[in-house]
Amino acid sequence: MTGSMRYSLLMFTVRRCARHGCAAPAFMEHDVCFAHLEDRNAALASLKAALLPDTLVMNQCFDGLELLASDFSRCRFVGCTFRGVHLNHVLFTGSSFRLCFFDGSVFSSCDFSGCDMDFCSFGNSGIIDCSFENGEYIHVNFNGCNISEVTFTGSNLYDSRFLKTRLSYVRFDNCDLKKAYFIPDHEEATTYTGSNAAEAVRDMEHLYL
Ligand SMILES: [Zn+2]
Repeated sequence: MTGSMRYSLLMFTVRRCARHGCAAPAFMEHDVCFAHLEDRNAALASLKAALLPDTLVMNQCFDGLELLASDFSRCRFVGCTFRGVHLNHVLFTGSSFRLCFFDGSVFSSCDFSGCDMDFCSFGNSGIIDCSFENGEYIHVNFNGCNISEVTFTGSNLYDSRFLKTRLSYVRFDNCDLKKAYFIPDHEEATTYTGSNAAEAVRDMEHLYL
């Protein structure tokens, strides 16, 4: 069974959790949401076995996923949702993401370095001790996030947004910041060494130009 075949069959299906009264979407190919899985360990084991390098994962719901120490490097995710997830020490090194949504989540010590990310959203998430180095993060929404001890060094952040974001000890060194929007709520010990910071949008007046 190849990952791409298996997941492509489930394209464009949105299903709700079968548990009465639960409005959460069903987790991946299961009938219930992640919180209502009866055998969470088995579900996580099959998830880890499926997400091998070069696997194409389309239109899958990972909402509510809680995961510690996994490697999903060099996977390709299209139209997937990771809303409300808690991921710790999860590696997405060199993976690609198109139209994926990570909103309202917590990522600690995760690696998104070398990713090719386009039209994705991390809105209102906590991102702590993570790497987004040496990648393409184009049209990515970091609005309302709490970002601490994170590096974006060497990355292209074209048209990505950091509005009402809290930035503490975040490195944006040697980045391409053309049309990146930086209007944080809080900014502490951030660095922009070697980046074209003048091409970033830093005030509301130019927000929609
Ligand atoms: Zn449920």
